[in-house]
Amino acid sequence: MAGEFFLKTYGCQMNVYESGVVRRILADAGFSETRDESCADLLMMMTCSVRSHAEARALGRLADFRGLRARHPDRLVVVLGCMAQRYKEELVEDARVDLVVGPDEYLRLPELIRQCRAGTRGIVAARLSSECYERVQPEPDNPVSAFVTVMRGCDNYCSYCIVPYVKGRERSRPLSRVLEETRTRVDGGVREITLLGQNVLAYRDGRQGFAELLRAVAQAAGTARVRFLTSHPRDLTDKVLHTMAEMENVCPFLHLPLQSGSNRILELMNRGYTRAEYLRLVERARVLLPGLALTTDIMVAFPGETESDFLDTIDLVQQVRFDSAYTFRFSVRPGTRAAELEPRVSAADSGRRLARLIEVQNRITLELNRAMVGQEYELLIEGPSPRGRGALGRTRSGKVVVLTEPTRPGTLVRARVTQLNGWTPVAQLRTTTNHNPIRPNGLSAGSKTL
Ligand code: SF4
Repeated sequence: MAGEFFLKTYGCQMNVYESGVVRRILADAGFSETRDESCADLLMMMTCSVRSHAEARALGRLADFRGLRARHPDRLVVVLGCMAQRYKEELVEDARVDLVVGPDEYLRLPELIRQCRAGTRGIVAARLSSECYERVQPEPDNPVSAFVTVMRGCDNYCSYCIVPYVKGRERSRPLSRVLEETRTRVDGGVREITLLGQNVLAYRDGRQGFAELLRAVAQAAGTARVRFLTSHPRDLTDKVLHTMAEMENVCPFLHLPLQSGSNRILELMNRGYTRAEYLRLVERARVLLPGLALTTDIMVAFPGETESDFLDTIDLVQQVRFDSAYTFRFSVRPGTRAAELEPRVSAADSGRRLARLIEVQNRITLELNRAMVGQEYELLIEGPSPRGRGALGRTRSGKVVVLTEPTRPGTLVRARVTQLNGWTPVAQLRTTTNHNPIRPNGLSAGSKTL
């Protein structure tokens, strides 16, 4: 009997996808998943190292796992992901983890678990390689929308970022495998494909780059929506923008991390663009893609950031008017170049700058959401609304909207936004544009397998 595993996932969408890879590998080896950690044989955690806060949360949760193991010593505590790669033996010695498995070693999980059960506790498997899990079809996370990883790793070495050290060098999955996974997901009933990678724009398979991949995926996806994450501004070409514009099912959405609006800080970050270049890119994208939604990541208090640098960021945020932004304070990641940089911004200044940035962005987001009132949108229904009887849907540009009528997940509707509830646009149904919703088992009503 292989046993039951509990898997907690921290971090980005790449980790969500890789948890699906792990689920598939374990399911193929005869393990089953439980949502109840108190009865799991394997207490597993997919970890994130991007900020110290994420690591602290994972370490706190590990203490719970150890408490559960103390009651049943046969249980194994397993750490996967970025922290496994970063801390290796330290997790065994300091956090008493039984098995530490880095991002490129998941195929070995069943064998490593067997070794642990045979008595070898404290195994560390964390060799970085060119692994892309080409042959693994991950367990789907969501019946309406699926992630498909197209590349892993990063060669950019932004000075604050730990990713190149814990995920390794850039490598792409073969285009044929990406298309195969896309078709399988669409045939299984999903209505939206999100292509994933640390920097999807760095995708390469022989002579095929991201623009060719995007076109091929859009064709393979049929009527399903296609979007992608994350895009490094330096690599966003006109060819990609034209492909987005030409392929009807590619959503007008870009997540384009800005990080800072100061040229001096952008250079210290090794981002490879200036504020003027970023602005030109946004202008170009908006000309080619009417209705484009832009989201971003912005960091305040990078070492040496002055008040004037910070005001440059605020100024650029006001010029671009992002639909939304993930905002952070600089987090020291030992081993990166930025960890050596001085002077550090005080906690008081970094807190004040972050609060100011959030205030500015919130105002812009609210103004953009208010402008949606009275407009009609196509919504893809993702599930029931958390409160009330209605449903949650997403526009093509990625905005979450509450639909007042209960509607099955997977349905495409046209709806008119009538008001905001706080921040959230609320819409009333006009027409249903497909009659092929997701059935509760994840299969579409029109699927041949039914
Ligand atoms: Fe990190 Fe920069 Fe690579 Fe993004 S592009 S994963 S921030 S090194």
